[in-house]
Amino acid sequence: MHELSVATSIMEKVVEISNDNNAEKIKEIELEIGSLSGIDRASFSFVMECLKESYGFPDCNIIINYHEHKFICNNCGNMFTDRFIGSICSECNDGLLTVTGSQDVKIKSLLIE
Ligand SMILES: [Zn+2]
Repeated sequence: MHELSVATSIMEKVVEISNDNNAEKIKEIELEIGSLSGIDRASFSFVMECLKESYGFPDCNIIINYHEHKFICNNCGNMFTDRFIGSICSECNDGLLTVTGSQDVKIKSLLIE
C-alpha cells in the first residue's frame, strides 16, 4: 500500500528530527501533500493515526494540508481545477494544458517538546 510506505517514511523522519533535537514529546505534525502524489486521503490519515500510536506518540495532533493541482490552458490562459489529467480546457476546449501542482509529500512543521 502506497499510503503506508509514505506515512512510514514520514514517521521515520519525524522520529529522526525529534531525536536530533532531544525532544521528549511530539505534539504536532503538519504535513503538506500535493494532489498529484497519488495519496488516498482517507487511507493516508487513517494510516497516520495508526502509526502515531505504534511510534509511541498517540497524543500527537496530525494536520494534513492537501493542495489541489491546477490546469493552465496553453491556448487561452484559462486556469481551472479538475480532478483528472487529460482534461480539456473548460473555456476553449483546447487540449494543450500545463499542469501546476505537486507530487510532494512534505513535513511542513513539527511541534516538539
Ligand atoms: Zn483554453
